[in-house]
Amino acid sequence: MPCEQADFVVIGGGPAGAAAALMLRRHAPGRRVVLFEAGRHELIKPGEMLAAVAQGLLRQLGVWTPFLAAAFVENRAVVSAWAREALDERYSIFSAHGAGWQLDRARFDQILVQAAAAAGAQVRLGCEVRSAVREDQGWRLKLADGDIFAGAVIWATGRSWRLARSFGAKLRVHGHLAAYTRFFDRAPGDGRMVIEARPEGWWYSADLPGGRRVVACLTDPDLGSGLRDPESWYRALAATRLIAPLLPPGARETAMLVKSAGTATVDPAAGERWVAAGDCLFAADPLSSRGIVHALRSGILAAYAASDMVDGRDDLARTRYAMIASQGFADYASALDVHYAAAARWDTAFWQRRRPQPEVRAADLYHNT
Ligand SMILES: Cc1cc2nc3c(=O)[nH]c(=O)nc-3n(C[C@H](O)[C@H](O)[C@H](O)COP(=O)(O)OP(=O)(O)OC[C@H]3O[C@@H](n4cnc5c(N)ncnc54)[C@H](O)[C@@H]3O)c2cc1C
Repeated sequence: MPCEQADFVVIGGGPAGAAAALMLRRHAPGRRVVLFEAGRHELIKPGEMLAAVAQGLLRQLGVWTPFLAAAFVENRAVVSAWAREALDERYSIFSAHGAGWQLDRARFDQILVQAAAAAGAQVRLGCEVRSAVREDQGWRLKLADGDIFAGAVIWATGRSWRLARSFGAKLRVHGHLAAYTRFFDRAPGDGRMVIEARPEGWWYSADLPGGRRVVACLTDPDLGSGLRDPESWYRALAATRLIAPLLPPGARETAMLVKSAGTATVDPAAGERWVAAGDCLFAADPLSSRGIVHALRSGILAAYAASDMVDGRDDLARTRYAMIASQGFADYASALDVHYAAAARWDTAFWQRRRPQPEVRAADLYHNT
C-alpha cells in the first residue's frame, strides 16, 4: 500500500526536535519535513533554567523575538551551598554571557514548535511514532493510524528510548538519579536560583513566570523512593536551610512529578539515515543546567547531518556527528565528576557513590558505524 512520504521526519517536539525541524527547513527549504510529538505541550515539565549562552542558538534559529516576547523570568543570580555551608553567590551581571532565564517550559517548547510550523514544517501533535523499520533509502515509521516513509529520521524523544531497538542503538546508563519535584503558585521570587547540597542529595528551587516556583530534591532512586510520599518530602524540605524559606506561607502546591535524571547516552549517535539529538543522544544530570542548550545545539547539528545523509554523504555525516557527540560528552563527564566530588562532605550513601571514580573514556562511548 502506498504510504505518506517525507524527506525528513523528526520524532519528538521538545527543544531538540523543534530546533532540528526549524533548521531542516532553513537549510533545505524545498524538502518536506514532518514533526511528530506524542503530547500537546499541555503537561508540566521540569527543566526551567535556560543558560545565557542559549541566546546565540535562539537567534540562529530565528526565535529570539518570540522568546523575548514571552517575558520569562531573568535569572539574576545563582546562590548555592555546595562545597561548604557558606553561601556562594554568582550574579549574572558579572557573567560574560549575561543573564539566563527561568522558564515556563511548556510555553518555551510551544514557541519553538510554533516557529518550526511557521517555517514550513508539518507539526502533528498528539501523534506518537510507535516503531521504525529500515527500508531502502530511508525508514518506514508506524503511527497509530498509518505509516509514513522518511528519507532520514531525527530521533529526539528525550529520555524515552523505546525506539532504540528499531534503530539498532544501545542505551548506556552512566549514573542513576531521580528528581522529586513539586510546583507551587503564589510563591514569587527575585530571579535567583538556589541550590543546596544535603546529606540525602541536593535541592534546587527557582521562581517561574506568573509567581510560580519549582522545588526539587535530587537523589538516587533507591534512596529517594520515600520522597514520593508528601509527608516525607515536606519533612526533608523542612530540614533544608536555603530552600524551605523560599516558600511563603500562602504558597499552594499545584503539581508533583518524579522523573529520572541520571546521565545516559545512546550508541551509536547516528546510524544509516538516522541521527539522535537532545536527551535521546545524551541525557545530562540537571546539576549541569545544560540540557536545553545541548538539545538546541544537537538539534541544529542533527539537521545538518540528516541533510548530508539524504545528499549521499552518509558516512561522513555519521562520523562527524559521532565525533562531536563524543567530545561534548567528554567535557561534561569530567566537569560533573569534579563538581560532585567537591560536595562529597557527608558519609551518606548518596555522597559515598560520588567520590572520585576511575576516568570514563568518552572514546569508548560512541563508535562510528
Ligand atoms: C528534574 C530535571 C530538571 C532539569 N532542569 C534543567 C535545567 O534547569 N536546565 C536545563 O537546561 N535542562 C534541565 N533539564 C534537562 C532538560 O529538561 C532536557 O535536557 C531537555 O528537555 C531535552 O530536550 P529534548 O528535546 O531532547 O527532550 P524533551 O524535552 O524530553 O522532548 C522530547 C519530546 O519527545 C516526545 N516523544 C517521546 N516519544 C515520542 C514518540 N515515540 N513519538 C513522538 N513523540 C515522542 C515527548 O512527548 C517529548 O515532548 C532537567 C531535567 C530534569 C529531569
